[in-house]
Amino acid sequence: MTYLTVPISASTPDEALSQASAAKDAGAQMVELRTDYLENLTVDMFDDMFARVLRAGIKTIVTCRDSSEGGQNDYPRKLRIQILARAAHTGADFVDCEYANFTKPDVSKFLKDALESSKTRLILSAHNFKTPFKDIEAVYDGMLMAYPDAVPKVVYTAKHVNDCFAAFGLLHRKDRDAIVLAMGEHGLITRILAKKFGSLVCFACLDEKTATAPGQVSIAQMKNLYRYDSMNSKTQVFGIIGSPVSHSKSPAIHNACFGACNMNRVYVPILLKGDRLEFNRFMENVKDRHWLNFGGFSVTIPHKENALAYTNHIGGFAEEQASKIAAVNTLAIGFNDRLSAYNTDYAGAMDALVKTMGIDKAQLEHKPVAVIGAGGVSRAVVAGLTDAGAKVTIYNRTLSRAKKLASEFACHHASMDDIASLDAEIIVNCTSIGMYPDVNSSPLPASVLKKTMVVFDTVYNPAETLLLKQAKKAGAKTVPGVEMFIYQAMEQFTHFTGEKADESIMRGVIKDSL
Ligand code: NAP
Repeated sequence: MTYLTVPISASTPDEALSQASAAKDAGAQMVELRTDYLENLTVDMFDDMFARVLRAGIKTIVTCRDSSEGGQNDYPRKLRIQILARAAHTGADFVDCEYANFTKPDVSKFLKDALESSKTRLILSAHNFKTPFKDIEAVYDGMLMAYPDAVPKVVYTAKHVNDCFAAFGLLHRKDRDAIVLAMGEHGLITRILAKKFGSLVCFACLDEKTATAPGQVSIAQMKNLYRYDSMNSKTQVFGIIGSPVSHSKSPAIHNACFGACNMNRVYVPILLKGDRLEFNRFMENVKDRHWLNFGGFSVTIPHKENALAYTNHIGGFAEEQASKIAAVNTLAIGFNDRLSAYNTDYAGAMDALVKTMGIDKAQLEHKPVAVIGAGGVSRAVVAGLTDAGAKVTIYNRTLSRAKKLASEFACHHASMDDIASLDAEIIVNCTSIGMYPDVNSSPLPASVLKKTMVVFDTVYNPAETLLLKQAKKAGAKTVPGVEMFIYQAMEQFTHFTGEKADESIMRGVIKDSL
């Protein structure tokens, strides 16, 4: 059993009670009363508040955290253990004591006596707010030596997503109730997937204001975005890997589609910083732990080339398109852990263009097209357009990159200085110019835009960029980046699941989020 638990970080008993009822209403199964947050804490104050929380009918962990392990107020040890003992006597489901304090004879004796005559269970906790533990297994085993009936709780700060595998490993190994998680942005997946890996507790905050640790997800997000209620040990995991990923709409659209198809799957953002070595290490960590049950990844900056190199290195399958573009945005883990790599930006961009124009791909033949940018998305767009026989000219800030890309795909290139005199039927912006927060910028002067043109902006946040606004004003046909985003995600969904995604659900989610 995993309890969805909201920490209560109130400074007064009334506020604590109102946070506890809000948590219950939001779907929490337990609250952690962080009594160290209460101002001027006394045993009487605790007794009174705790009786009121119990009447609200919700399970409880009572904690009075030592300031050296993240406690809010610096209360003396004697008061802290008195609070825990009172909680044990008056009906707490769990009390949480720091392992470091429990090893002190006065604390362990006092608490053991209090626990002996109650049904309350002891959580022994250890926190490292700076880094992962050097030997996490030793910490965990030490707790069980100190009190064999304890629920070990080991919490550390992940410096990289690769630090999360130690937490998963401990939860996987455990033969008892335990809580193991990593804090901070790099540790996010240990929080979201706590229920899948059987942690006794999945912590979620009511909102950012009442969060008690870095990286806590809100209970609303946990339930609505990450499908908490339907998650179980068999849930297959997908995610977006790259840096940054926090802005990505992919978790929202894939999770909504998993939900609509009643699939036991979840999609999470995975911040994967670093270079090829870190990327390879992440993939090896996944490969070595079949039981994690990862099913695939969307791949974003800066790992699109790393994903292709890794797939080739381990003898996986890379589709021809992805190899030609030299970038992979989709990795699917199939039968026998076989890794397959795809580039769905290619199909996504082409679908967006031809469907919005109301033509088929063959009709792009000989059409003059200006592609602005020479990065990853440009590669996919140029590959698609040249395959269709369009006459492509690449404009880029760094001319040498435009030249290189043009030579790879046998097309033309030009300097950004020449953009004011471009002559094309279709313009495709593949730079980040105009993307939020740079919403008042456009990659070209409005005077270039004509009624006869089709203007495709791959930027999808905002949904209508300045370039698209200006193109509309000039009477041109416009293709928003959202279209490409939806079509590439639909392709991805099929690679992940073998099923067709529900386009209307994806559109609805994107519309709501933008
Ligand atoms: P990338 O590989 O980093 O390439 C960025 C390109 O933009 C480069 O050509 C760069 O020129 C140019 N650029 C950036 N800032 C510029 C500036 N201030 N002035 C002139 N040129 C500038 O990025 P990417 O992966 O190709 O992504 C590009 C954009 O595509 C993203 O920003 C995103 O909005 C969009 N995108 C859309 C979708 C979708 O599904 N709709 C999917 C992925 C990405 P230099 O070569 O000179 O640096």
